[in-house]
Amino acid sequence: MMSNFYPVAKPILNGNEKKYVADCIDSTWISSAGSYIEKFEEKFAEFCGVKYAISVMNGTVALHLALLAIGVKPGDEVIVPTFTYVATANSVKYVGAKPVFVDCDPLTWNIDTEKIKQAITPKTKGIIVVHIYGQPCEMDEIRHIAEENKLFLIEDAAEAHGALYHGRKVGSLSDIATFSFFGNKIITTGEGGMVLTNNEILAAKMRQLKGQGMDPKRRYWFPIIGYNYRMTNVQAALGLAQLENIEWHLSQRERVYLTYRKYLSSREDIIFQGELNDTKSSYWMISVIIDKPGLNRDLLMKKMLEHGIETRPFFYPMHILPPYKRTSRNQTFPVADSIYGRGINLPSYGTLTEEDIQYIANTLCKILDEL
Ligand SMILES: *Cc1c(COP(=O)(O)O)cnc(C)c1O
Repeated sequence: MMSNFYPVAKPILNGNEKKYVADCIDSTWISSAGSYIEKFEEKFAEFCGVKYAISVMNGTVALHLALLAIGVKPGDEVIVPTFTYVATANSVKYVGAKPVFVDCDPLTWNIDTEKIKQAITPKTKGIIVVHIYGQPCEMDEIRHIAEENKLFLIEDAAEAHGALYHGRKVGSLSDIATFSFFGNKIITTGEGGMVLTNNEILAAKMRQLKGQGMDPKRRYWFPIIGYNYRMTNVQAALGLAQLENIEWHLSQRERVYLTYRKYLSSREDIIFQGELNDTKSSYWMISVIIDKPGLNRDLLMKKMLEHGIETRPFFYPMHILPPYKRTSRNQTFPVADSIYGRGINLPSYGTLTEEDIQYIANTLCKILDEL
């Protein structure tokens, strides 16, 4: 019966990837100089509608670079959603600051805008929002809170390339936005990341910091301590080829999402991620909550795997992880607590066919009815 194995994610390299990478090898430009880097940065900035794009090694150091450029320091507090991937919170610790976690919205699972206000203290320097699983946050309201309280605003858009908020691309709605090009993201460079900003001073700072802090006008003169966070030309070659096809990647992900909805929406025990008006998700991960009292989610996942279908559990919220548990013990996160143990990500890549999705959906329903 089982003919295929369906992973949760896989890269699709069906454009100029091979050609551009071969060009790097043939020309020997394989390190962190070369024409693909500039091209990729320029085209990605243009795609998002932002002035400056700076490529880096991955999405985690992109966040670190953003916080360094803004000047976040030990003793500062940064507001972060508890329901996110761990890199968001860790980046705040890298600069010695304290992540202050905020619960998520029950419908979109994104940071709860109202609860951001309650988390602000005199030590708060800024807010990092995460467009979780590709669904944009309430950016107008959040930007308003940031402006009113003189806080910086960072978008961690690692999962949301091409997602739209009121017709504008995410990544263009904050002081600095960060992206990841890890193998399972909307477009990939294997490992890779990007920081975006419209602020010339921040852009220059991030460029300097990612290249060991070298003075841009004086070679081997290092007025500050920097990092080596550079992307290679080979990564950028992959990235440029992926970016050329991004509209295709996004449309396939939307098709996959709509097909899952077609087969699963009638079920009362399967809840899809909620969407805000006038937004469009990147549909990074097909994410559902199984709303069935007493359900053993991990057993469900095991049974799906026996049918050749890999699934992923939702992220553990930050406030229960060992490095963050103690500092968040005086707060409660009822929404995050209620969703993380019931959520799964289904196979989400753009080459799934209608038959594949029908099989996955039917298998999920069958197992749920048996459990
Ligand atoms: C993937 C991801 C990151 C980190 O990106 P890497 O490239 O893996 O370092 C950061 N934040 C979120 C929300 C992510 O999903």
